[in-house]
Amino acid sequence: VAPASLDVAGSPGSPGRLIETDALVIGAGPVGLWQVFQLGLQGISAQVIDALPVPGGQCAQLYADKPIYDIPGLPVCSGRELVDRLLQQTRPIAPVFHLGQTVATLQAQDDGRFAVTTSTGQQWLARCVFIAAGVGAFLPRPLNLPEAERHQGRQLFYQAPPTGLAGQQVVVVGGDDAALQAVITLATLAAPARPASVLLLHRRAALDAEPALLQQWQALLSQGSARFEVGQIVALESSAAPGAPLVALQVVGADGAQRRLPVDSLLVLLGLSPKLGPVAQWGLALQRRQLLVDAAHFETSTPGIYAVGDVVSYPGKKKLILCGFHEATMAAFAALQRLRPDEPTLLQYTTTSTRLQQRLGVVADTTPATAEPGPGD
Ligand SMILES: Cc1cc2nc3c(=O)[nH]c(=O)nc-3n(C[C@H](O)[C@H](O)[C@H](O)COP(=O)(O)OP(=O)(O)OC[C@H]3O[C@@H](n4cnc5c(N)ncnc54)[C@H](O)[C@@H]3O)c2cc1C
Repeated sequence: VAPASLDVAGSPGSPGRLIETDALVIGAGPVGLWQVFQLGLQGISAQVIDALPVPGGQCAQLYADKPIYDIPGLPVCSGRELVDRLLQQTRPIAPVFHLGQTVATLQAQDDGRFAVTTSTGQQWLARCVFIAAGVGAFLPRPLNLPEAERHQGRQLFYQAPPTGLAGQQVVVVGGDDAALQAVITLATLAAPARPASVLLLHRRAALDAEPALLQQWQALLSQGSARFEVGQIVALESSAAPGAPLVALQVVGADGAQRRLPVDSLLVLLGLSPKLGPVAQWGLALQRRQLLVDAAHFETSTPGIYAVGDVVSYPGKKKLILCGFHEATMAAFAALQRLRPDEPTLLQYTTTSTRLQQRLGVVADTTPATAEPGPGD
């Protein structure tokens, strides 16, 4: 999925003005993307927020290259292909994506709208909110050592290589595509930006990465441009003084022996794990850490806040993409009633409705919008 093809706003670290919107979708997994499409069919434009830098949720993060066989009308497609197709389908709706930021707070306001803030400080006021948060925000798996937090952001990083590592001793922890890609990027940077040394540290000798990356990695090893150690970090070494820098790692190898690895910067790429986190703190009724919804409107315990996909609970709920698509469709109809109570909620077919086809950009929008006959007419 090429994020460049999206209308992306609100880059991390640069909070913009307050954004007012009719509909805010939290989560750009398959169900969040379908929610955007269904809202668009109803003539409601949406803003979409996701903690990840790319859309697709579990499909993109957990099984991008594995096959899915139970999407109606698509006998087989990979997780990545499904996300690509959903993005293509939402394109005419022109949603605005705000990626790489986690929704932290969601609060009802006196005027009936909802105030939302994200980890970057961006703020929204939305008339309706759709929570499609799946199993939670995918966040980097942290290094499980008490002293890790105080080095984070200065010498310890959980994301792709930060700049400014020239001449440093860099240790990359991990054994998957992301870890290998980071090593390759760092080791092949042109001088003078290149670190003095790049070492890959993984808990076992076998790496789990794409053949093309493994090939590049082998070439770097044989040229001596990168090094490899098998082991696990058991302690971060720095002097006791407050704010003292990280100077070395204590590592236990496969042989059980402990040794010291000097380090200037540590890049920990141990994969992503989902965290329901903030969703559970928004005062919405929960059942076994899922949001309780009614199965007709997919509204949570707070009117105006809808929830769809893996994050919800109702009698008979199945955590399947198809079920999430149904839920999002129903939620869009329910939201229309809330946003435009005076308009009749008509069921129209994309096959025969000129209005829907105009919204999808397949026929020119030349007529003033008027109520249309139902699907049978
Ligand atoms: C290995 C595997 C194989 C599967 N195969 C199938 C299959 O064959 N068929 C099928 O139907 N289903 C399958 N599933 C299940 C399917 O992937 C899920 O049902 C589906 O992904 C749910 O979609 P969703 O949009 O609700 O949630 P997700 O895909 O989990 O997406 C949720 C998104 O919300 C974001 N998010 C969460 N909290 C926040 C927050 N606070 N702020 C910002 N963003 C947030 C997350 O970063 C994530 O991108 C499979 C699952 C797995 C793990």
